[in-house]
Amino acid sequence: MRPPWGWVFDGPEQPLRAVEFDWPRLGAGEALVRVTAATLCGSDLHTRHGRRPTPVPTILGHETAGEVIAVGEPAPRYLDGTAVGVGERLTWGLCASCGECRYCHSGLPQKCDRLFKYGHAALTSEWGLSGGLATHVHLRGGSALVALPAGLPDELGAAAACAGGTVAGALRLAGDLAGRRLLLFGAGMLGLLASAMAADAGAVVIVVEPDEARREQVARFGASQALAAVTSDLPDWADVAIDFSGHPTAVAASLALPRLGGQTIWVGAVFPAPPLEVSAEQLVRRCRRLDGLHNYHPSDLATAVDYLAQRDRHWGFSRLLGPVLPLAAAPGAFDCRGAVRPLIAG
Ligand SMILES: [Zn+2]
Ligand SMILES: [Zn+2]
Repeated sequence: MRPPWGWVFDGPEQPLRAVEFDWPRLGAGEALVRVTAATLCGSDLHTRHGRRPTPVPTILGHETAGEVIAVGEPAPRYLDGTAVGVGERLTWGLCASCGECRYCHSGLPQKCDRLFKYGHAALTSEWGLSGGLATHVHLRGGSALVALPAGLPDELGAAAACAGGTVAGALRLAGDLAGRRLLLFGAGMLGLLASAMAADAGAVVIVVEPDEARREQVARFGASQALAAVTSDLPDWADVAIDFSGHPTAVAASLALPRLGGQTIWVGAVFPAPPLEVSAEQLVRRCRRLDGLHNYHPSDLATAVDYLAQRDRHWGFSRLLGPVLPLAAAPGAFDCRGAVRPLIAG
């Protein structure tokens, strides 16, 4: 059998290299997966084009689904506690955590002291197959593994690993959304998924998105309105505002607009930007709450997979993905612009 291979990234704007790897030897709690789908996230595009640092050389791709072809002894376990078996379809979270440090013990395993991030790890002789743009991925112990339900396409299982889990995490921070007003900034994959998920939870949703083509999608994903910019009737309208865009203007608006006692959740600001001016007095007097979300909790991945399996038929999330490229053509996927999530089928 041909050895596993993947596209190695050496730095911004350098050509990706197709590199063969040795078959890995599996340790306790590890698994070897044949990649069946990988979707590129916006952050992969930022990394590729030098707007986001990552250790190199590396294999990019942290939204991946696959079929288990071998397991270590003992076999790894899914988040629900069942053992992983050969032949099963699964996806995995962005991170593997140690399970022992103070963050792992305090509900933040996604910020573990010894965190390993798929698609963001420098290749080593012991650990080569760590990103989705490869034929295979070597899963570490401490990874968040979720089986894909029958009927959930591999590519949506892959997209759950960053977009889905992140949205589920943001909505978890917002709490019960039934009857509440939600203001979302950004109508990329995350904003649209959040809109649908929040609408399903009973929220009234308004999305702010300057890009017209993206804005046209919004109505099909449960929002009552799509606005090009903040309007004069928005202040005090929202119970919760979530920024997925990371754009400084949107980030500031998401903090300024919610009602007294309302909540702001920041998700998209994961790249350097000028500091924001904040009125501490206003936050205090208006009894405001501000949360940040990064990497999401492993349980959010399970929530996302479950949600996508139940509701994809209704919303048709797969149309947010594409075009489909074979792995051999993966370098071309980085030239696709944000409106679609390029999909590399394994
Ligand atoms: Zn991502
Ligand atoms: Zn830890």
